[in-house]
Amino acid sequence: MVQDEELLVAVLNSAPIEDGTRTEELDGAAGRELALRFGGTGSPAELRRLRELRDALHRVVRDHDDPADALGPLLADAVLTPTVTSGGIRWEPRTSPDDRLAVRTAMAWSAVTEELPGRLRACANTACNLFLLDHSRPGTAKWCSMAACGNRAKARAHASRRRSS
Ligand SMILES: [Zn+2]
Repeated sequence: MVQDEELLVAVLNSAPIEDGTRTEELDGAAGRELALRFGGTGSPAELRRLRELRDALHRVVRDHDDPADALGPLLADAVLTPTVTSGGIRWEPRTSPDDRLAVRTAMAWSAVTEELPGRLRACANTACNLFLLDHSRPGTAKWCSMAACGNRAKARAHASRRRSS
């Protein structure tokens, strides 16, 4: 598993659509809880940075925007510093505490893109705002979850087949 993979997926999936309306989970108590779970500060400034980064990642992953345009400006001030141990070198972002989680999320996106190319995708349900990181061997997963979107799509396909026959 890529470092901070869970953080990346949690941030990407923090604006789910419920009853046709886009909701915001990187805000208020829910946002604070998410940030603290991953070692963030939970401050309003941190959540604002995370929302900006999430929206940029949505454009990159779903709309295939140029990452240099979408992410570059958000990372302009990021600096990595090495911690050398007997196990190797660990690179950690040196940022203000409120920026750290957003930088870690961007680094996780980068690692996933390199190590699992093509496996991070938007849910195939266009009315869904969630993403999936496909760890299946064939790599053909289409839905954020079978329960939420897969079964519904299958039911629709079945109904339209019945209508057309
Ligand atoms: Zn979905």
